[in-house]
Amino acid sequence: MGRIRVLPDQVANKIAAGEVVERPASVVKELLENSLDAGSTELRIDVESGGRRLIRIADDGCGMLRDDALLAFERHATSKLRDVKDLLSIATLGFRGEALPSIASVSRLLLETRSADENTGTQVEIAGGKLLRCDEVALARGTAVTVRDLFFNVPARKKFLRSDQTELAHIASLVTHYSLAHPEKTFRLSSGAGELLAVTPVGTLRERVFQVFGGHILEELVDLGTREQHLELPPPYVPPSEAIAEFRREPEEPSTQTFRLSGFVSRPQVQKGNRNSIFIFVNRRLIRDRLLLHSISSAYYNLMPPASFPFALLFLECDCNEVDVNVHPSKTEVRFRHQSFVHDFVRDAIRERLIETRPAPAFSPAANVQPGARMPYSEFSQMLVGQASPPVPDSDLPQPVNFGEGEGQAGMPVLPDFALRPAAGPAPRLDFSAPAIPLTDVVPSPVRLRMPETHGAFPPDALPVSDTSLGALSDLRPLGQLHQSFIIAAGRDGLWIVDQHVAHERILFERVLKQRAAGNVETQRLLMPLIVQLTPGQQIEYARIADELNAIGFESEPFGNRTIAVTAAPAAVGPADLEKVLGEILETAEAEFRGLSLEDVRRSLAASIACHAAIKINTRLDHAKMEWLLRAVAATDCPMSCPHGRPIALQYSMREILKAFHRI
Ligand code: ADP
Ligand code: MG
Repeated sequence: MGRIRVLPDQVANKIAAGEVVERPASVVKELLENSLDAGSTELRIDVESGGRRLIRIADDGCGMLRDDALLAFERHATSKLRDVKDLLSIATLGFRGEALPSIASVSRLLLETRSADENTGTQVEIAGGKLLRCDEVALARGTAVTVRDLFFNVPARKKFLRSDQTELAHIASLVTHYSLAHPEKTFRLSSGAGELLAVTPVGTLRERVFQVFGGHILEELVDLGTREQHLELPPPYVPPSEAIAEFRREPEEPSTQTFRLSGFVSRPQVQKGNRNSIFIFVNRRLIRDRLLLHSISSAYYNLMPPASFPFALLFLECDCNEVDVNVHPSKTEVRFRHQSFVHDFVRDAIRERLIETRPAPAFSPAANVQPGARMPYSEFSQMLVGQASPPVPDSDLPQPVNFGEGEGQAGMPVLPDFALRPAAGPAPRLDFSAPAIPLTDVVPSPVRLRMPETHGAFPPDALPVSDTSLGALSDLRPLGQLHQSFIIAAGRDGLWIVDQHVAHERILFERVLKQRAAGNVETQRLLMPLIVQLTPGQQIEYARIADELNAIGFESEPFGNRTIAVTAAPAAVGPADLEKVLGEILETAEAEFRGLSLEDVRRSLAASIACHAAIKINTRLDHAKMEWLLRAVAATDCPMSCPHGRPIALQYSMREILKAFHRI
C-alpha cells in the first residue's frame, strides 16, 4: 500500500483555514467585510478575551435566504462571483467564498440570519466544521454571526496567539479604520463591558476623523480634499486580421480612467518611527501596498528626515478594472494595472497639497481619542517586512552648541551646562496613544481670590481668527533672537519661533534647485584646483553623478588614478567649507546614492550645499537680516521644514496664549 493518501475533508479544511483565519482579527475582518458587502448601515461587534472566547458581529444588511444559509458554508460558495471573467472587476470586499467555511471549521459558530424576502429567519450551528443544527426561527432582518472558542480544535494555532490585549488591539485598529472608510454607517465595538468605539453616521470623512480621533488631532492633519486625475488609455490594439472582421469586435473599452484620492495626511512635523499610522484604502478596501507606501514617502521627501513616516489615511477610488484584488489569500494586497501612473498621482497629490497648505507646527496637542483608536497596533502595517526604521545617524544632526561660551552673549545669562540639542525625534509629535493632559490639570488650582478687572476676559472681537498656516510668516515682526539661534517674532495670530539655520537652509536649497533648473548656477572659479582622493566605491558613484555635480556648480575632472580636480564651486559655498561639502557629498554618494534617481541625487546635492552655506546657529543677526530671513522663507515653496526634514517654525497661537493665561 502506498504511503500517500488523500487527506480527509476535515483535515483539508483546517489547512486552508490556516491561510484565512490567522488570529481573531482575521475573523473580524472577514465578517465585517461580509456585513459591508451585504449593504448594512449598522454594524455591532462584541468580543471577549481578545476575540478568543467570543466574536459576535451583527448587521442590518440584506440577510440570507434559508437555502443560502447552509450553502454559505460550502467551500467556494459565494454570491459575489459567477465566472472567471468576474474576477477581473471585483466590486465587493469578499469574492472567494472561503471565509465562512474556514471560520466554521476552527470554532463553534452560530449564524442567525433573515432576508427581507422571507418571513422567518434561519439559525445554523456548526462546531469544528460539523453541522449541529439548522432551524427556522423568528428573527429581525439582517445577519449575526457568533464565533466562540476560536481554534478550540487546533491547539497548535492557539499557541501562536498573543496576549488578549494584543489581539484586542489588532481588532480595535481594524474596526476603527473600517469605520473611517464608511462615515455614513454606525459602528460599535465592545470588549466585555467596555465600549472601544461608538460612531454614528456623519456626512463627511472629516467629521468621522473628528469622531474617532478628536479635534486636536484633526488640527494636526491636512485634508487632501478630493484630487482627481484622468489616465488617457491608448485605443486597444486590434490585429489587422480582426480589424477586417468588424462585427467580431468586443465593445470598446473607455478611453480614459479616472482616479480619485481623498483623505488626510499629517503635517511634516508629525514624525513616526514606523509605518503603523499609514492606512490605505483602495475602493474602500484596507490594504497594504508597497507602491503606495513608496508614493507617500516620496511625497515627504526632503520634508521629513529619511527614517520617519507620517500619519496617513488615504482613500483611492478607481474603476475596479484598474486593480486586481485577487493577489493575496487575505485580500490585503492589490496590483494596479497602471502602476507608475498611480504611484506618481498619489505622490504628487499629497506633495502639492502639503505645499499649498503650508501647515505650521503648533505646541502641545491634547487629544480626545476614542479608546479603540488609541490602540496603536495594526495587523496590516505590522506585516510589512523591513519596516523597522534605522535610527538617524548622528552625523545628520548638527553638533550641540554650548551657549556658555562664545562671543556676543551680552545681556544673556551664562548657562554653563546648557547645550542646545535637536530632539532625537524632531519636534511636536502626534501621539495617538498618549492620554490627553490638559494644561489646567497639571497646574495646581490657585487659592480663589476675587478677579480684579484687569484680569477679565479678552474682548472676543480682539481675538484674531487663528491662522495656523505658514503663509502667516510673511507678516511677522521680528522681536529678537533667543540664544542667537532662534528668531522670536510676533504675528497677528500669536508668537512664532523660527530656527534661523534651517530657515536659511530652505531658502538656499530652493534657490540652488531653481538655478540648476534654469542652468544658471552661480559658481566661483578656484585659484588653485582642489584635488580630491576617491575610494573605489566613490569613484563608481562619481562617474554616475559627475554631470550632475558639474551642473550644480562643482566643475571637476578626473585627475589621474582615483583622483579628481575641482576647478570651480557653487558661489554659496565658502572656500573654507568646500572640502567638507565635497567630502560629505562623496561619502553620502557611496552610502546612499546608488539607490536614488538622478532627481533625488540633485536634491541631495542641493541640500548639502544649502546646509553648509546657511547662517549657522549661535550667530547674531541684526533686525534687517531677521526681517529679510522671515520674508524670504515665507516666499519659499515649502516653509514647513528644512531639506533634512526638521521643522522651521513653531507657532504659539493667540488662542493657546489666552487659554494659558485664563483669558478665555
Ligand atoms: P465571500 O464573502 O467571499 O462570498 P464568505 O464565505 O465570506 O464568502 O460568505 C459566503 C456567502 O455568504 C457570501 O457570498 C454571501 O452571499 C453570504 N453572506 C455572508 N455573510 C453575510 C452577511 N453578513 N449578510 C448577508 N449575506 C452574507
Ligand atoms: Mg466574505
